[in-house]
Amino acid sequence: MSETIDRLSTIVGGTSVIKPSEDLDAYTSEPRGQFHGRALCVVEPETPRDVAAFLSFCHSRNISVVPQGGNTGLVGGQTPDSSAQQIILSLRRLRAIREIDPTSDAMTVEAGVTLLETQQAAASVNRYFPLSLASEGSCTIGGNIATNAGGVHVLAYGMMRDLVLGLEVALVDGRLLSTLGKLRKDNTGYDLTRLFIGSEGTLGVVTAATLKLYPRPRGHSVAFIGLKDPSQALTLLSFVRERAGPALQAFELMPRLGVDFVLQHIPGARDPLSGSYPWYALIELAGFVDQDADTLAARIFEQVFVSGLAEDATLAHSLDQAASLWKLRESLSEAQKRAGASIKHDISIAVDRVPDFIAMAGRRLAECFPDIRPVPFGHMGDGNLHYNVSQPDGGDKKEFLAKSDEINAIVHGLVREFGGSISAEHGIGVLKRDLLKEVKDPVALDLMRAIKATLDPAGILNPGKLL
Ligand code: ZN
Repeated sequence: MSETIDRLSTIVGGTSVIKPSEDLDAYTSEPRGQFHGRALCVVEPETPRDVAAFLSFCHSRNISVVPQGGNTGLVGGQTPDSSAQQIILSLRRLRAIREIDPTSDAMTVEAGVTLLETQQAAASVNRYFPLSLASEGSCTIGGNIATNAGGVHVLAYGMMRDLVLGLEVALVDGRLLSTLGKLRKDNTGYDLTRLFIGSEGTLGVVTAATLKLYPRPRGHSVAFIGLKDPSQALTLLSFVRERAGPALQAFELMPRLGVDFVLQHIPGARDPLSGSYPWYALIELAGFVDQDADTLAARIFEQVFVSGLAEDATLAHSLDQAASLWKLRESLSEAQKRAGASIKHDISIAVDRVPDFIAMAGRRLAECFPDIRPVPFGHMGDGNLHYNVSQPDGGDKKEFLAKSDEINAIVHGLVREFGGSISAEHGIGVLKRDLLKEVKDPVALDLMRAIKATLDPAGILNPGKLL
């Protein structure tokens, strides 16, 4: 083992190897504490060439590698197994912003730059990078690409896969593949860039990316709407979309129970509306060119009330108010955690079926487990629900969690009936690896395995994840 570590130090530089005698907790456990592992060591190369040389070394010695960005993933994709034989490849030191080109609306950044730093770099040239997630302060661009991250602006700009123009990827044979570049049009064969996006570190290791930039919104207007039911939310979504066009940036759905959890468990949270409603939507509009976001929002929501499409609403009148409305939505996972045990699902279905899905899933779960409390919330505008289920009020945590398999089977079974996906934006990792085999088209699975065997013949890249 020490011989391996000595050799590694000569490949990537002595300070780039963190040894097992040091505290590796920040790498071997993730912040939510759901996944833990042990590692032989952590390697943090300083250049893409070093990453490629490191992979080639591991390939020649059959050493397994677990690539890691900001360590914020939710499905265990970045966590080593318990063998203490795998090496964590941290990309945190690849921190260069290589180019920002506002004329081409493109920027090239290295894998270890955080999402927040990327957004800020774009803003510094009066441009906008639209990917936005709760963990944006610590998650990295490399991890966002490896997991094809989603978040709250997908209905307007798409997922990470839609935001990447090119990649630099270290391969296990020691080569660097580059599709980097600012071209918007390039029909020269297979789309290798997209192949690596969402591959969860199983095919190669992303070291840099060219990202798309967008016009920077002139401001945002945030509304919080009280609703009768998800059907009313769906009608409201179509109504606002028709009138706002690309200015509609986010449309998030929350049930009353979720809002109650936030009000009970998150210090400083307060109910934005005076009455209580069964469901809520948080809607964000942006202003562009000469269209002011607040004027647009005021006009649309006046029509919303005339048409009877909402029960009540409040519009944020300051940046602070907008931030506290968003905080209500973004604290929901944390609040649910404090309210007891929960069983989580990250699913997507066609947007028009969301109300039917919520109704049917609630009924089926209630038939088998009358006391459990579904808290479906999330990105209604793109059909992605975090269909989370909380334990019975005052019930036993362990007893509830023992029902996980049955509850998962009901939710995921219904997702399949609706032609949906069991992983909308969090990935497969270890959490859904076995489930993937059950739900994915067998021909697609065969092709995925064939691609894996071509790019990683020894199977050293993130083994046990995804496939
Ligand atoms: Zn989400």
